[in-house]
Amino acid sequence: MKYKSTRGGGSHEYYTFEEALLRGYAPDGGLFVPTSLPTIAAECLRSWSSLPYPELAYNVLRMFISPSEINDQQLKDICNKSYAMEEFDDASFIPVKKLGSAFIAELFHGPTFCFKDFGMRPAINLLSHFATLRNRATTILVSTTGDTGPAAVHAVSEAANPLLTIIVHYPHGQISEFQRKQLTTVNSKYVKVAAFEGGGDDMDWPIKETLLMNGDNDAANGERTFCGINSYNIGRPLLQMVHFIWIYFRTVEQLGVEPGDMNYKIDMVLPTGAMGNLTGGYMAKLMGVPIGKLCAGVNINGENRVANQVLNKGEFHKKRIQKTLSDAINIEVPYNFERIAYFVTECNCSLVKEWMAVMEQTHQLTLEPDWQARFRLDFDSASVTDDEMCHVLRIGSATLNYVADPHTAVAMAAAEKLGYKFTTESSAGQIIPMVIIATASPCKFKEAVTVALGQDGWNCWKEKNFPVRAQKTIQMKEVEPFLYPWTEGASLKDVQSLWRQMMLDIVSNNFSLSHELR
Ligand SMILES: *Cc1c(COP(=O)(O)O)cnc(C)c1O
Repeated sequence: MKYKSTRGGGSHEYYTFEEALLRGYAPDGGLFVPTSLPTIAAECLRSWSSLPYPELAYNVLRMFISPSEINDQQLKDICNKSYAMEEFDDASFIPVKKLGSAFIAELFHGPTFCFKDFGMRPAINLLSHFATLRNRATTILVSTTGDTGPAAVHAVSEAANPLLTIIVHYPHGQISEFQRKQLTTVNSKYVKVAAFEGGGDDMDWPIKETLLMNGDNDAANGERTFCGINSYNIGRPLLQMVHFIWIYFRTVEQLGVEPGDMNYKIDMVLPTGAMGNLTGGYMAKLMGVPIGKLCAGVNINGENRVANQVLNKGEFHKKRIQKTLSDAINIEVPYNFERIAYFVTECNCSLVKEWMAVMEQTHQLTLEPDWQARFRLDFDSASVTDDEMCHVLRIGSATLNYVADPHTAVAMAAAEKLGYKFTTESSAGQIIPMVIIATASPCKFKEAVTVALGQDGWNCWKEKNFPVRAQKTIQMKEVEPFLYPWTEGASLKDVQSLWRQMMLDIVSNNFSLSHELR
C-alpha cells in the first residue's frame, strides 16, 4: 500500500507507509491518505468478529502496510505490545454497555484513560521500529489540548528507545490538573514537556514549519528527523479505524445481528475536535463496516464550533477559541476535515486543493449546497454549550446512574439534540442502534465534573470509581515544564517564531545525537 497527498502532490508522488508516518504532512501541505481503501467483505467481518483486539488491529493494519516494509511477525509483535492486556484495566478492552435505550463504548481503559491510547501506542511503536531499523534519531513534536500528550509521552517512555525522543507542548492553564500531572510526572530522559502561553493550536504552526523543514532527510544520514504525531499524521486515523470495527462487533453482538449485515447499520456519536477519530470511523464505514451516520458532538466556545458548522452548513470558517469545560475538543481548524473532504469527493484532489487554498487564504470556506447535502448523507452534527453539557451529565448521573467525562457528555447532549432521545428509555423497550463514543474517563476532569455535579457528586463518583493507577499519578512529584512566554504587543507570528527557536534549543540541549546514535 502506498500513500499520497489529499491535495494530489506532483504526478506519481507516492510514499511508503514509513515515509508518510515520518513526514506527518505531505510536502504540498496536504494530509496523507492511502492510495486506495480496501474493502472488508461481510464474510471477512464475520471471521474477524471474534478476534482479540491485538489480532483485529494486526489484520486491519496488514491491509495498509506492505509486508516489504514490516513483515508479519514484526507487525504482530507491535500490535501485541501496543495492546498488552496488563496496560488496560478492563478485560474487554473497550466495554460496550447499554446506556438508556442506546449504547456507550468506553474507550478509556488504557494507560492514560483516553481513547487516544488506542491510536497512539501502535503509532509510537511503529516509529520506534523504524528508528531502530534505520539507526535514525527521531524526535516527536506534539502539541496537545490535553489528552494527546499523555498518551504520547507514556508510549514513548515505555518504548525506552534512545533513538526516539519527544517534546510535548500544552497551552498553559488550559488543560486539567490531572492531565498536567500525567505529563509532568513522567520520569524519562526521552521526554520533555513545555507549556506555552497561548491558545489550543498556537503551537501547530511552529511544529508544522519544523516538520516541513526536515522533508528530504528520510535516509539515515546522521541527522535528526522530526516527526509530528497529532492526528494529521495518517498513523492515527488508520489505527483509529480498529476501535470502530471493534465497537461495531460488540454492539451487533448485543443486538443479535449478524456482523456485516448491511441492512442493520449502527450510528455513532462522538465528541469531536480535530476530526481524527471521525476520520477513522469514516474510513471503516467506507471499507464496508455497517456504520450508519457518524455524528460529531462539538462544543461551543465563544464563536468556535467549526466542525459543526462545516458538517451542517458547509461553512469551514476559522474562529478564535475560548476556554470551555471540554477543552480537549477546543480547536480552531479541525484539520482532518481535509481527509473527510477527500473521501466525500471520491478522491478529488484538485477540488480539495482548491477548497484548502480558499481556507488558508481567507480562513473562510463555504461549500456549495450540493456538497453540503453530500456531507449530510454520511454525517450529522450538533453543537453543545457548557450548560447543555452539564445538564446531560446530571441526567446521566441521576437517571441512568452513569457519570461521563465532559467530552463524552458533549456527545450525549449532541445525540439528544439530534433526536436520539436515548436518555428517556422508550416504553416499548426499543433499543436505538446508536453508540456514544466515550473518549475519556471522568478521572481526568475533576474540575469540569465538579461544575456539573457539585463536590458531592464528584466525591461520590470518585469513591467508587477512581482508577488505582490514576491515584498513583496524583501522588507523584511534578517536574517543572519549560515555559514559552507570550510577549505583550508582539504579533502571534513573532511569538510563534520565538517559541519555535525555544523548541529547537530544548532538542539540542537535551537530546544529544551522540548519545542516541550508537
Ligand atoms: C482528542 C479528544 C477528542 C477529539 O478527538 P479528535 O480526533 O480530535 O476529534 C474527544 N474527546 C477527548 C477526551 C479527547 O481527548
